Amino acid sequence: MSHTSLAVEAAQLIDRLDRLVRSGESEHGLNPVQWEALRYIARANRFSRTPAALADYLGSTRGTVSQSLISLEEKGFIARTQSARDKRSVDLELTTHGRSALDVDPLTNLAADFAATRTLNLETVVGLLRDTLTRAIARNGGKQFGVCRTCKHFQKTPTGATNFARCTLLDEPLSKDDSAAICVEQEAATV
Ligand code: SF4
Repeated sequence: MSHTSLAVEAAQLIDRLDRLVRSGESEHGLNPVQWEALRYIARANRFSRTPAALADYLGSTRGTVSQSLISLEEKGFIARTQSARDKRSVDLELTTHGRSALDVDPLTNLAADFAATRTLNLETVVGLLRDTLTRAIARNGGKQFGVCRTCKHFQKTPTGATNFARCTLLDEPLSKDDSAAICVEQEAATV
């Protein structure tokens, strides 16, 4: 099979996998956007758990995201509180109910199917998917939302220092957990 034919089949397979995951999502009383919002809030750092950042992440409008968040709050999955950093914004947090929902996230079935694959190096697969996602986001003019520790503003502090690391852009301390979270401000460090 040619390189182009393989690329087309890869796109079709990803599309089909996406549809299968989404068909399982409705069984839990949440729509796909609401699931994505819960996953995002679980993965994002404290600077990024806002409705505006979520809209950027989903490539959606703020109005659509706002409706989803209102519904998630009414169903008890998330809490919204006034942001301490910006009084015009709110911070989003998962409730216990929201965290429990993620324990049965239909996406975990897809992860288990990947884990069951023994014939391929998963690091290679993840690298390929990351590269493809980076190109798709760049084409759409979106933000990357990369992991904090890969950001050019991430500065590891010396061993024995109070904080694990520091953000030189926002001038804020970062914990080890922060370093693994995704961020709306992330800019990939050049290797
Ligand atoms: S180091 Fe980069 S990714 Fe981490 S908090 Fe700062 S801007 Fe965000």
